[in-house]
Amino acid sequence: MIKTVRGVHDILPEEMTTWHYLEATARRVFSGYGYRELRTPIFEKSELFARAVGATSDIVEKEMYSFADRGGDSLSLRPEGTASVVRAFINNSMHRLLPWRVFYMGPMFRYERPQKGRQRQFHQIGCELFGPEGPLADAELMAMVMRFFAEAGVAGNLTLEINSLGCPVCRDPYRVQLLAFLTAEQERLCGNCQNRMARNPLRVLDCKKEPCGEVAQRAPHMRDHLCPVCADHFSGLTAHLDRLGLSYQINPRMVRGLDYYNRTAFEVTTDALGSQNAVAAGGRYDGLVAEIGGQSTPAIGFAMGLERLVLLLEEGRVVDPVATVYLVMVGEEAQGVGLSLAERLRSAGLSVETNLAEGSMKAQMKRAGRSKAPITAIVADREVTEKTVVFKQMADGTQHTVALEGAVDHVRSLLQTLS
Ligand SMILES: [Zn+2]
Ligand SMILES: [Zn+2]
Repeated sequence: MIKTVRGVHDILPEEMTTWHYLEATARRVFSGYGYRELRTPIFEKSELFARAVGATSDIVEKEMYSFADRGGDSLSLRPEGTASVVRAFINNSMHRLLPWRVFYMGPMFRYERPQKGRQRQFHQIGCELFGPEGPLADAELMAMVMRFFAEAGVAGNLTLEINSLGCPVCRDPYRVQLLAFLTAEQERLCGNCQNRMARNPLRVLDCKKEPCGEVAQRAPHMRDHLCPVCADHFSGLTAHLDRLGLSYQINPRMVRGLDYYNRTAFEVTTDALGSQNAVAAGGRYDGLVAEIGGQSTPAIGFAMGLERLVLLLEEGRVVDPVATVYLVMVGEEAQGVGLSLAERLRSAGLSVETNLAEGSMKAQMKRAGRSKAPITAIVADREVTEKTVVFKQMADGTQHTVALEGAVDHVRSLLQTLS
């Protein structure tokens, strides 16, 4: 038997209801802010990710699904969404149409150790905004994210955490200071941090291991070393958030895994999975468009993982769809009459689940009950002879015999009394 590849899974029909619900909520909320959907290809030239995400990043070095196609080009399955959106922005000359607001949803691929909520094919919904440079855009984007979670109904207490990562002007001197501090504390750090300290001292700040956490508390923080422009941007952001009435926490230890972020970084975390976990993460990446060869354009965005959202959805938010009418057909002639009746009901906009297998009246009525359809239509020998159909309201067992040509009207009036 052939099974799925490790770390990927089928999303079964009964789960899809939840996925559709989350996707529809995202489409509705994001449209309310002027965002429109962009669909980029699932695979791109590997070079795009090397340049956008960073050739030495873990994602590009260890986690990408890369392959040579038959023409010899090195291609990769996308490990995240932003790089492709930026490429699309440049390729389609969207700098002429600023601000450009887009959202995307779909599968991403990373070769990671599979665990609960983390798959090798995983799904993200994200938004990107190109053009606006000021903190007003950052604040509105955060308001949109929080509105999405409120409308979707995500369990637990949500916290909006913000930080500033500075810009090349202020981050480089800060990095030197931080590295000096960490060098003095080196023996206290975990092995992983000792190794990556010189290459990326900022990542030590968000290490989850305990000795590093204590060191990070005492380390110099970016926010105290911002240049005047970055400091203004951050105070502008908090002022806008205050005016919007959005509560937030400043988390000086939040850094982003990807190099392209600058100034605003943010995460939405929840306490619903035990420890505090991020359900959305994003930030500003003003330098990325130019880095990939476009005309320099400020931008900000965020992404969230659907697998985790599915786990966090409040109970009762999603109702599985059921057919309006379940059609029981006993006997060969009844099947002919019944199938035409089902088509007429569907033409009238009603959903009908037919019993396509043979079976006694009793067996078919059992299946009708399992289908949860509120109305069962029954066609057997007598109904065929009399050109009628029996409708049964499943809630109270009431039955009516109705002439075939009056079937659509009868179901409509039944639905009215049911609702
Ligand atoms: Zn700065
Ligand atoms: Zn560490």
